[in-house]
Amino acid sequence: MAFAKSKTVQAQSKNDQKVILMTLDGYRWQELFTGADAQLITNEKYVEDTTALKQQFWKESAQERRETLMPFIWTEGIGVGEIHGNREKGSKFNLTNGMWFSYPGYNEILTGKADDKNITSNDKIYNPNTTILEKLNQMPRYKDKVVAFASWDVFPYIINDKRSGVHVNAGYVDNQQSKASYSEKLINRMEEKTPSPFGNSARLDVFTDYYALEYMKQQHPDMVYIANDETDDFAHQGKYDKYLNAAHDADAFLKELWYFVQSDPYYKDKTTIILTTDHGRGTQPLDTWRSHGNNIQGADQTWMIVLGAQAKKMGEATQEEQLHTTSVAERIMSILK
Ligand SMILES: [Zn+2]
Repeated sequence: MAFAKSKTVQAQSKNDQKVILMTLDGYRWQELFTGADAQLITNEKYVEDTTALKQQFWKESAQERRETLMPFIWTEGIGVGEIHGNREKGSKFNLTNGMWFSYPGYNEILTGKADDKNITSNDKIYNPNTTILEKLNQMPRYKDKVVAFASWDVFPYIINDKRSGVHVNAGYVDNQQSKASYSEKLINRMEEKTPSPFGNSARLDVFTDYYALEYMKQQHPDMVYIANDETDDFAHQGKYDKYLNAAHDADAFLKELWYFVQSDPYYKDKTTIILTTDHGRGTQPLDTWRSHGNNIQGADQTWMIVLGAQAKKMGEATQEEQLHTTSVAERIMSILK
């Protein structure tokens, strides 16, 4: 018996893989795969300075436009991973829940299952379902090595931090750490002094992203969840310039994250980054780009990117396929188990 047990321990200790899950709230596959939208980028109803925005993000071909909007994903990321959801090329990625807004979307991503019976609003209700983060945190190997940083303040409820014991830092809250570094203290102070354009419910993504990066540098967690928010909130506000810039900034952060991962021996060549979103948005009529929910056609259409150690090095999926958001949690478990 003792022999069998030590064998198991040995087998387990061989898995030194790490996963970073990152979500961009309500970011459309249309911009991911074809860049800035011709009808929106020139529309003064949605853009403060159309000339400047066109200069920044407009190119004739969809290929050039997406590379301009998200240069890391389309020039470096594509070489080390797989990118699903370009419906123009036959790759489809869809939600299976019937709600098509945030809490049901995140519940589906994190638990691997839609729950249209219990998850029917964005209210701050503790999730009755168990997320992949909670499951990992229950495994001795990952205990206290699972963390989440989120811009939106509903995440402590979605992840059920009270029950799961997962470290969740979300909304306008300092990241409390007993050994906060100089950088973390500085981020705390800057966050406190930066008013949010979204009221109290969400902070700007820059704080979420750099809290996560600083935490990784110091504590080396094995499972990190980073939940960005700006793309959705700026879209609801009808600000297409800010929506595009939020996506552009997320791509720049992803690059920084990837370069950190590949420079740190704890993570290098052992880390898989998965990106996805909680829902899509509309396209027709034009103004439905701002919205989502099951009354908006196409808001169940999403995408997924997998980069790094355990990604298939296939680049953009161009064959007919139908994938679902429910596969994300399974994928994470298959890497870490
Ligand atoms: Zn929304």
